[in-house]
Amino acid sequence: MRRKNKERLLVSCIFFNLLMVLFVNCDIKYNKNILVVSKPHVVLGEKKKVAKENLDNLKMDKPFKMDEKIDRKLDRIIVVDPGHGGVDKGTNIGNLYEKNINLAIASYTKSYLQQNGFKVYMTREEDKLIPLKEIGNFVNDIRPEVFVSIHVNSFKENKYEGISTYYYDPNGFQREERIELAKSIQKQNIKDGIWHDRGILRQNIAVLRYSNSNCVLVECGFITNEGDRKKLQDESILKSTGENIAKGIINYINNKN
Ligand SMILES: [Zn+2]
Repeated sequence: MRRKNKERLLVSCIFFNLLMVLFVNCDIKYNKNILVVSKPHVVLGEKKKVAKENLDNLKMDKPFKMDEKIDRKLDRIIVVDPGHGGVDKGTNIGNLYEKNINLAIASYTKSYLQQNGFKVYMTREEDKLIPLKEIGNFVNDIRPEVFVSIHVNSFKENKYEGISTYYYDPNGFQREERIELAKSIQKQNIKDGIWHDRGILRQNIAVLRYSNSNCVLVECGFITNEGDRKKLQDESILKSTGENIAKGIINYINNKN
């Protein structure tokens, strides 16, 4: 019996050590991942959500599931990301939630791109939260020509209004093309005079930093501004904004080729 106990103890020790090794390895990988996405998604007026979105990163442990095989050689692939979703409502005024506006605009972007022969992948088609890390993995798995994330801005001072396109080039990565893409989308979005032009801005935003593909984040007006808020409740403006984002992407790709 005593010998058996010793054996048991030995086996337990080996098992425990193996577990420790596994844990340590996971931790290193995990920390590596977090390092990649640790800087917050800070867009003017979105600071509160930063902590939440980073918490969502921490929860991520499974890769994004894709329901069909993707031919990586296929050109003309775009990934569209309607920001936030599910418990993460984004910014809001009363019952008007950013997550719903983002999805509406993004759906119009998707439709327009599809009508023009592009293959489009959405990070979400329904009201659910996709952690930033998963979005990053999804984009980097698909390797689209363009990745666009769609958001609505907010700020404590309600005088701020208008549309802006954010790009980020980590250490100059894809600098020229990211700027060109941002310019092309911004140009299209201000063409019809609906939105005040806030220009293009370089900002270290997690979804942009993590993407290996050319990418931008569009902030479609300020929910905190009365004029913009009216626009964000007008379906025809959501449609034209979504389509203008698509047109900006198409123009960029046509000029590039
Ligand atoms: Zn947002």
